[in-house]
Amino acid sequence: MSTHRITQAIRIRADQTPEKEHSTPLFLTSSFTYDDAEEMRAVFADEKEGNIYSRFSNPTVQEFTDRLCALEGAEAGFATASGMSAIVATFLTFLKKGDHLLSCNAIFGSTHTIITKYLPKYGIDYTYVNAADPAAWEAAVRPNTKMLYLETPTNPGLDIIDLQAAGEFARRHQLLYNVDNCFATPIGQTPIQYGADLVVHSATKWIDGQGRVLGGAILGKKELIKEIYLFCRSTGPSLSPFNAWVLSRSLETLDVRMERHSSNALHIATALEGHHSISWLKYPFLPSHPQYDIARRQMNNGGGIVCFELKGGLESGRNFLNNLKMLSLTANLGDTRSIASHPASTTHAKLTPEERAAVGISDGLIRISVGLEHRDDILQDILQAL
Ligand SMILES: *Cc1c(COP(=O)(O)O)cnc(C)c1O
Repeated sequence: MSTHRITQAIRIRADQTPEKEHSTPLFLTSSFTYDDAEEMRAVFADEKEGNIYSRFSNPTVQEFTDRLCALEGAEAGFATASGMSAIVATFLTFLKKGDHLLSCNAIFGSTHTIITKYLPKYGIDYTYVNAADPAAWEAAVRPNTKMLYLETPTNPGLDIIDLQAAGEFARRHQLLYNVDNCFATPIGQTPIQYGADLVVHSATKWIDGQGRVLGGAILGKKELIKEIYLFCRSTGPSLSPFNAWVLSRSLETLDVRMERHSSNALHIATALEGHHSISWLKYPFLPSHPQYDIARRQMNNGGGIVCFELKGGLESGRNFLNNLKMLSLTANLGDTRSIASHPASTTHAKLTPEERAAVGISDGLIRISVGLEHRDDILQDILQAL
């Protein structure tokens, strides 16, 4: 063989499979090869384990999913390109024309859009129930209700829903119990322990933790995830191997990060409570939180989000953001860098004040995603801005 052909062969075909690497390698490949026709047939027929195509499965994505399953106590999982694709996959896999969905009223904005605007196009009806008043949920159940969808703590109002009681409610009515665990992370709480059939995640937030990549996941019982897998391998919301590689590394530090995010948040919430510019402040692990007892029972820490209401409404919200020197003004949360947001003038600005009130957003509401900077630096910046 000519030297040219040899170097071409090395450049194009040589496998570089380093052994005993400390960090697992990234399988940045769209498909997988077989030794012969028989092996290929067996993998396609599900008679032999193996990867086919990265829309279906990929070793790097599997590593991330397996680690997240271990943290959540889930039998199986499927990783997706974003939190929204995870949430939509659970709706479209398990709900059909004529079904009814129960959801808590305070949910992530895009999830609200999916439920309110898109599901009805496919004949799927919904009722929003008050997150803070589970006793009122009974009246909303219909014979065709199929799923209970919850977020706790809620965004941005930080209501806490009793996961155990919600689980009993879902079992009583034979509802598929689906929980968005993005805010608490599996370090903060594990909904499967309270009977959740499905847990969905935006891995973009605390799981990544450094604002780099988008990602999501659906976790739960094996037979349910099998259905999710079949839906996703055909529709293609699969997580990219590169993002999975980043997120999988992030999971290794999730517990130490959440511990510090939470202790910083508790410190800041404690120091700000009662400040003369604030009419109320909420943090799950402050005794003043209306559902403090539930939070202490089901959460291992209070999480990294603090919210408070500024006296003076919209105008003081805008002034507060303008006065900040260190905290970032950005749409993300769950980052090493502390972030401030003012939903009434940004994410929820298109709603009327009445519509905002219905989803728990008042005009002076400020949400702080507490980062990993020194807690005194974060507090100092907030205090000077107030
Ligand atoms: C951000 C977020 C989502 C959506 O996740 P993406 O990764 O942005 O698609 C869903 N639920 C909650 C609670 C979120 O904060």
